[in-house]
Amino acid sequence: MKIGILALQGAFIEHERALNALGAETTEIRRLAHFTDGLDGLVLPGGESTVQGKLLREEGLMEPVRAAIAGGMPVFGTCAGLILLAEKISNDGNVYVGTMNVTVRRNAYGRQLGSFRTDTEVKGIGKLPAVFIRAPYIERVGEGAEELARVDGKIVAARQGNMLATAFHPELTDDLRLHEYFLNMIR
Ligand code: GLN
Repeated sequence: MKIGILALQGAFIEHERALNALGAETTEIRRLAHFTDGLDGLVLPGGESTVQGKLLREEGLMEPVRAAIAGGMPVFGTCAGLILLAEKISNDGNVYVGTMNVTVRRNAYGRQLGSFRTDTEVKGIGKLPAVFIRAPYIERVGEGAEELARVDGKIVAARQGNMLATAFHPELTDDLRLHEYFLNMIR
């Protein structure tokens, strides 16, 4: 199994480590030429969604990535990756990949809670450690999408068919169950 990791910016190496530890092969996507046919899935890592969105456009990757996901390619977006996947960002006019029927709020936790660590119960998995870094949360989960977890009443993980997204960073903990869940989506 070969997973493409969008490696334009942000915390992509940690996703590679997690997936490699689970036996999956990974390859970094920085340019259009890297986004080849033989990929079984794609990871959109955390980082800065505005920068990642700009680079996706500049590299000509935005449309091919959108088309692949719309065509059913399994994708796992964390934090900024969730923002890229969202159809709507309530406090920002941008839409990036926009394939997932969710509305997110960027930098949603305010200054004092800019970064924190907690536990959250993820549907189908159990209790997981969750690291939040200037994270978004999901304000609305639309038709076809399903919420998977909440923290303090806010939705922080969701799935819609081939798309899995979290507001937090599972790749920054040593708990690999969400990555395992993603690999099972592919299988
Ligand atoms: N604040 C970032 C954004 O808006 C997301 C932060 C993250 O990915 N850890 O894109």
